[in-house]
Amino acid sequence: MAKVLVLNASYEPLNITNWQRAIVLLIKGKAEQVEHNGKMIYPGMPLPTVIRMLQYISIPYKEIPLTRRNILHRDAHSCQYCGHTGDDLTLDHVLPRSRGGVDSWDNIITACVRCNVKKGNRTPKEAAMPLRKQPRRPHSGLHFEVTKYLRSGNHDEWQKYIIN
Ligand SMILES: [Zn+2]
Repeated sequence: MAKVLVLNASYEPLNITNWQRAIVLLIKGKAEQVEHNGKMIYPGMPLPTVIRMLQYISIPYKEIPLTRRNILHRDAHSCQYCGHTGDDLTLDHVLPRSRGGVDSWDNIITACVRCNVKKGNRTPKEAAMPLRKQPRRPHSGLHFEVTKYLRSGNHDEWQKYIIN
């Protein structure tokens, strides 16, 4: 069943909930409806797709583990050198490990086998293989979650509330 994006009072995404919980928040007056998809739950109550909390809720930053899966997801499963998508994706250290490159969000990227081999033990600059996007730590676990839903193509109304 439909998921609902919950925005903070500041319009930043806060979490993802199910529509039943979203309705409860609306009825209790804790949230307002921002977007709906036109379907009616009952007359006068459209099914929400995005709601916004009326009071600001502070949430602590949650660290996202640096894993292969998460790096692939951040990079949209595409080679950061040539844009190739496919099954033969590897992880590449931008500054090679042998030259002091560390395991970090800004030094590990997704690369296809071909580019990884071609780049070898060089920096992108030395190899004349510029990165398509500067790698960095993802915003938050929620941002990660939200982009997964967006890529499924079912929650287009969420798009405008998401940065990048
Ligand atoms: Zn490539």
